[in-house]
Amino acid sequence: MPNIYSNIINFNSNSTKKIIKILSKNGIIGLPTETVYGLAANAYSETAIKKVYSAKKRIKRNPLIIHYYDLNRAKKDVILDNKFYKLYKKFSPGPITYIVKKKKNSKIKSIASANLKTVGIRFPKNKIIRKILKKIRFPLAMPSANKSSSISPVSAEDVSDEFKNRIKVVDGGYSKIGIESTVLNLVGSTCILRPGKITTDDVESVLGQKIKISYNKKIIKSPGMLKKHYSPGIPVKLNCKNASNKDAFIVFGKKYKKGKNIFNLSHKGDLKQAAKNLYKTMRKIKKLNFKKIRVVKIPNQNIGIAINDRLTKASNK
Ligand code: AMP
Ligand code: MG
Repeated sequence: MPNIYSNIINFNSNSTKKIIKILSKNGIIGLPTETVYGLAANAYSETAIKKVYSAKKRIKRNPLIIHYYDLNRAKKDVILDNKFYKLYKKFSPGPITYIVKKKKNSKIKSIASANLKTVGIRFPKNKIIRKILKKIRFPLAMPSANKSSSISPVSAEDVSDEFKNRIKVVDGGYSKIGIESTVLNLVGSTCILRPGKITTDDVESVLGQKIKISYNKKIIKSPGMLKKHYSPGIPVKLNCKNASNKDAFIVFGKKYKKGKNIFNLSHKGDLKQAAKNLYKTMRKIKKLNFKKIRVVKIPNQNIGIAINDRLTKASNK
């Protein structure tokens, strides 16, 4: 039987050379991170970046996050201030993206950051991506490895399903966090543009100032364009108390019974586990051919705020 996932690469010393070769020759490849899987390209190569936008069918005004191995490399491209250093010390490497000013002589290609004067930078923690980043001489522009507006991938198989084997992907198992990074704006007013595992409370405790979540309206100038995001492609209804047997019912906590249409994000009511299971569950429901999804109310605290953010976007028509 043919292997339907012939594009999945195991990570070892031989494949490392192959991965580096692909990236160095302006190719693109799916890589694991602790948040979700990314579609990686050399951030210093316009050819490579264009391939990412085209494979994802992503609008050019939506900037990519640039991933670095360490501070020394990032410093060459961006301007970093004290606020940044405090946060970096506490949260990086990890699931947080900082929006900072781009240097005039930065080598990051303008199209990677949608011609903005700012750049989103992240230092991922996943061991595989760190080993690759350490060995290459350029940072990686890396959005989530899915077609624009669909659900982010949390396994190598998910990436294959998105791009139908056309893109190679390195297998790093299931993403540990399962939800995209927190995006924190550090240019002008400090605010969170996308909630994630690192919360407003976490940032407040480091900076000693109140932090708000302000959804990224300034960057995407056409309202509504990206309102529908993280979509499983079938209607999603939130804050439901029950569901018919025909609909997939996403629940949270121990009071729910088992059933063919019932998908519990976390029996023990653990929000981190729920985040990890969210996209996996939505893909499973889609594969099982359900036509509608109903979701119970998820506690709006800690990483639950990020879960609700993604669910709200998934439910937008
Ligand atoms: P994704 O690549 O799918 O994880 O999405 C990246 C997110 O980071 C999007 O919400 C972008 O709008 C945001 N982002 C990246 N760079 C910037 C930037 N320079 N300013 C504001 N938001 C950014
Ligand atoms: Mg994405």
